[in-house]
Amino acid sequence: MASERSSELATRTVSLIPGDGIGPEVTDSVRAVIEALDVGIEWEVVEAGEKVIEKEGTPLPEYVLESIRRNKVALKGPLTTPVGTGFRSVNVALRKELDLYANIRPSQSLPGIDLPYKDIDIIVFRENTEDLYAGVEHMVGRNAAESIKVITREGCERICRMAFEQSVAMGRRRITVVHKANIMKFTDGMFRDIFYEISRDYENRFEEIDDRIVDNMAMQLVIRPNEYDVLVCPNLYGDILSDLCAGLVGGLGVAPGANVGDGIALFEPVHGSAPKYAGQNRANPLATLLSAKNMLIYMGLQEDAERMQRAINEALASEKTRTRDLGGTAGTKEFTQAIIDNLR
Ligand code: NAD
Repeated sequence: MASERSSELATRTVSLIPGDGIGPEVTDSVRAVIEALDVGIEWEVVEAGEKVIEKEGTPLPEYVLESIRRNKVALKGPLTTPVGTGFRSVNVALRKELDLYANIRPSQSLPGIDLPYKDIDIIVFRENTEDLYAGVEHMVGRNAAESIKVITREGCERICRMAFEQSVAMGRRRITVVHKANIMKFTDGMFRDIFYEISRDYENRFEEIDDRIVDNMAMQLVIRPNEYDVLVCPNLYGDILSDLCAGLVGGLGVAPGANVGDGIALFEPVHGSAPKYAGQNRANPLATLLSAKNMLIYMGLQEDAERMQRAINEALASEKTRTRDLGGTAGTKEFTQAIIDNLR
């Protein structure tokens, strides 16, 4: 039965893929916290990954895609990519099938995690469908191989436009395009040029609009990360630099992600299924919780997202309620319960 708060809200159905390994535990944590938040979300649970291969003959059954297309919003736990079975990565397939062209990776410093840098707040907008990941790769004879870097005007325009739009909406101060246009003049040159073309519509909305060559960018992020705010990257650089940024705030265990297309979004932690920790109450659900928090913002539930973040921060501040990978003593369930208690 709907509670008082959720009956005030239009109920929204969200597709939930629990995932493999630690996936069910970390997504259970999200379900418990979202229930305590009382925001009128109903989950449509659809299974994918290792556990459905035998029954469905594929790790990504059509009903999973149908559910996400219908609900427009999804949360996903990590999925194991079966090695040597001939199945392609479900994660890559989901992005392609649903045309989720933007991979958005925020990295923000959190309390209770002792790291060299404080107050990091960087968002990477990574193009998610092109570049060297387009899958145009083949052998040339027996002793050479080539992989084609595909960059299209449309691909550049849509990721740059989304990055500018969302950055303005979030009140960000600086936006930087990352490239290697000094060497790859056509491909990265196009990405950089289109970024600047689109920037003309946003000139007075940022303190700085600039660009960095990717090797320099990597160094800058290590020596002065606090100066950077929003990075817009082609696929390969975005993949690497977003992990670098995650490392600045505590690593993959704390890194949330979102794959976003036009009117459709799939939220997921960056980490994998960590099979060695499955079923042991040892997984850190933080990255999935932060992904769910960003999902609430996407759904227009900003205040609830802030409430959730405050409760998470409080739980992280104490060793007793932090998980072991972050130097604490709590298990998945104890950390989750602490967040729920902080919401009351
Ligand atoms: P992984 O992220 O699962 O594990 C890397 C290390 O981090 C391990 O030591 C693991 O125990 C630890 N770890 C990861 N998440 C954790 C968490 N939430 N709490 C505590 N410790 C955590 O990476 P991997 O071992 O390379 O991959 C395992 C499987 O996951 C593979 O099949 C891989 O293909 C898959 N994978 C899936 C995704 C995804 O679904 N988005 C992403 C990466 C890897």
